[in-house]
Amino acid sequence: MYDAVVVGARCAGSSTALLLARKGYKVLLVDRSAFPSDLAFSTHYIHQSGIARLKRWGILDRVVASNCPPITGFYFDFGSFVLSGSPPPADGAYAPRRKVLDAILINAAIASGVEVRTRFSVDELLWDDGRVCGIHGRGNGGSAVVEKAQIVIGADGMRSTVARLVGATEYNVKPPLQGPYFSYWSGVQMKGFEFYPGSYRGAFGWMTNDGLALIGVGFAAKDHLTVRSDIEGNYLHAIGEDAPDLAERMQNGHREERFVGGVVPNYFRKPFGMGWALVGDAGYLKDPCTAEGITDAFHSAELVADAIDSGLSGHQSLDQALEAYEQERNRTAFPLYEFTCQLATLAPPTPEMQQLLGALNGNQEQTNKFFGLFAQTVSLPEFFAPENMQKIYGRDQHTGA
Ligand SMILES: Cc1cc2nc3c(=O)[nH]c(=O)nc-3n(C[C@H](O)[C@H](O)[C@H](O)COP(=O)(O)OP(=O)(O)OC[C@H]3O[C@@H](n4cnc5c(N)ncnc54)[C@H](O)[C@@H]3O)c2cc1C
Repeated sequence: MYDAVVVGARCAGSSTALLLARKGYKVLLVDRSAFPSDLAFSTHYIHQSGIARLKRWGILDRVVASNCPPITGFYFDFGSFVLSGSPPPADGAYAPRRKVLDAILINAAIASGVEVRTRFSVDELLWDDGRVCGIHGRGNGGSAVVEKAQIVIGADGMRSTVARLVGATEYNVKPPLQGPYFSYWSGVQMKGFEFYPGSYRGAFGWMTNDGLALIGVGFAAKDHLTVRSDIEGNYLHAIGEDAPDLAERMQNGHREERFVGGVVPNYFRKPFGMGWALVGDAGYLKDPCTAEGITDAFHSAELVADAIDSGLSGHQSLDQALEAYEQERNRTAFPLYEFTCQLATLAPPTPEMQQLLGALNGNQEQTNKFFGLFAQTVSLPEFFAPENMQKIYGRDQHTGA
């Protein structure tokens, strides 16, 4: 009998498992993948606030040692002007390949005392009087296995088996809005997190492990059918038109891997019930255009591990603790979710946004703060507060005074 079984061993699952093990709990972590392995479809930029968590957990030095350079700045090129700078605090972000990051996380979980089974697929849950009390799964050899636990945590991504089996309700659902096609290039140096907005598309890129640059183009969901008919042609055409400076650097580079791409939906799921909880993409998913999924998975891992500790230690009831987890997750996630979904339309900026971007041009302090929205070191309510808007525009937006 385990205190917790965690299903899914990547950024949300390994983090949750290691945090629970470090609090003294007996944890089983399972994943149907073998490690190290890349996730089929994900870029991997980790913002400053996510990196701060890796540092706190004592794992950052392993990412740094993986031949992955720090990324200290943002570079948003709007054609007529460029906004560039570093969010406060100006520590580096990193974008380790998932085959690197997820292996580091899983090894850290093992070192923290977590029992790990890879190539292990969960297909059913064990129930007792309406309460989840374990898992049914199959290991590498294919033999059926039952494991019991006080709580089962679904960290099994957007197609979560756990969420489906418990019937977790979805809310704030939005359809797919955009999605990238990306690949890895040698011989191209990036200036930071580069972004080149176009009309219903946007080119982006940054450095990752082993001197490779990840370079992608996000296309509006409505255009994906057309884009798929000639991915390379549409990708290079968009970069050539919207990011000529990047296109020039790519002339001297070489594409090293195949293109990967597609779209994802946007949703929140109720992340707890009797004997179960959800964390990471299993619990909520938003468009990847702001690259927040890993950073958010780390945050939710801390929140859910604290809640489960509070419940299992008898500090408060598990249900109460997990309800507080949902509230706190949503309090921080909702504003960025709406902001992300707005950006993910890839529509030309609204007049208000154009006015804001124009006002930021030449104001380094506020530009850095703006980038802090993406890095999650500045909150949306703080940035858009009337006092801050007054600082940016030099007058009160409502009274004009
Ligand atoms: C195109 C794209 C680009 C992205 N770019 C970024 C980015 O730059 N930065 C960023 O922070 N985020 C990005 N994201 C989001 C990020 O990939 C996710 O938020 C993150 O992977 C969520 O981690 P997770 O641990 O919750 O789930 P996942 O990483 O999906 O891991 C789930 C794990 O569960 C396992 N699993 C599933 N079902 C079972 C089962 N039944 N039994 C056993 N194991 C199971 C799977 O094998 C998998 O290993 C991007 C996403 C997309 C789609």
